[in-house]
Amino acid sequence: MPDVLKAPLVVEFPFTRSLGPVQSAFLTGLRERVVLGVRTGGDDGRVLVPPVEYDPVTAEELHDLVEVAPTGTVTTWAWNPAPRRGQPLSTPFAWVLVRLDGADTALLHALDAPGPDAVHTGLRVRVRWAAERVGAITDIACFEPYDGEAVQLKGNTGQFENPVTGIVAPARLDYTYSPGRAQSAYIHALGDRRMVAERCPSCRKVYVPPRGACPTCGVATAEQVEVGPRGTVTTFCIVNIKAKNLDIEVPYVYGHIALDGADLALHGRIAGIPYDQVRMGLRVEAVWTEGSRYPDHYRPTGEPDAEYDTYKELL
Ligand SMILES: [Zn+2]
Repeated sequence: MPDVLKAPLVVEFPFTRSLGPVQSAFLTGLRERVVLGVRTGGDDGRVLVPPVEYDPVTAEELHDLVEVAPTGTVTTWAWNPAPRRGQPLSTPFAWVLVRLDGADTALLHALDAPGPDAVHTGLRVRVRWAAERVGAITDIACFEPYDGEAVQLKGNTGQFENPVTGIVAPARLDYTYSPGRAQSAYIHALGDRRMVAERCPSCRKVYVPPRGACPTCGVATAEQVEVGPRGTVTTFCIVNIKAKNLDIEVPYVYGHIALDGADLALHGRIAGIPYDQVRMGLRVEAVWTEGSRYPDHYRPTGEPDAEYDTYKELL
C-alpha cells in the first residue's frame, strides 16, 4: 500500500463587507479613539459593547449610540502562549473579555501582559490605541493593565466626518490536509500519468477520484480500476472572473469530464480549443505538463462527439 499523503493547504480570500449604521459608527469611533456601545430599549436599557444592530432579546432595531470608557475590567481570560500569524500581538498574550466602564457586556480582545501570573479576572485594563487607525477593530492595538483614574468622556453619540462604510476582512484557513488511503493511491498514480479509480463491491460503480467508500451503498471500496485518460465533457461553464494568484487568462472553460470507464464525472480545465467551441459530448484527454504530478488540463482528442445517451447519467 502506498504512503498516505499529507500536505499544507492554505485557503485565503479577502472578504469585503459593507457596514450598517451601527457598525459604521463603532469602527469610525475607534479611528477617532472613541468607543461606542448601543443602548437597548425599555426601562432597563443595557449598553452593549461591541454594539449590535438588533436587540438580542427582543430583535428590536437599535440605534441609540452611547460613548463608553476606554477603561474596564477583565471578566474572563485565556493565555495564548504561541501567537499565530495575524493575531493582535506577536508575543505571548492573554485573550480577554473586557467589560468597559459604562458597558453591560464584554468585548473580546488581546491583553499585553508579561505572563499568565499577571492576569486575573477583575484586573483593571485600558485600551492601547494603534498608532495608525483606519476604522477597524485593530485600531485597538490591545489592552494593557491600568490602575489609574477614570477617563472623562465627551458624550459622543456617533456623529463623525467621513464615516467608514465598509471593511475588507482577510479570511484564511491554514491547515494540513490528508487525502486518505484511496485518494493517496490516486495521486501517486497520477504522478505516473495513470488514473486509478475504485469500484464499489456492491453496486459496481467506478469512482474517480476515489474517496475510499461508496456514498450510495455505504461500503468501503478497495478494487482498483484504471480509467481514462480519455473522456467525455458532460457539462461545462465558461469562467469570466480572473482569480487572484491564478495564472490563467479569462475566459476559460471548466468542465465535468466522464473518464472512460468511470461512473462519476470529475472536473478539470478544458483547453486547446476556443472557449466558445467547447460542447457537451466533446471527447477530451488529459494533458500533463513537463514535470507535473497531475493533469494541467484536458484537450480535444479529435474523435467524433459522444452520443448523449452514453453520458446522460454522468452530468
Ligand atoms: Zn455502491
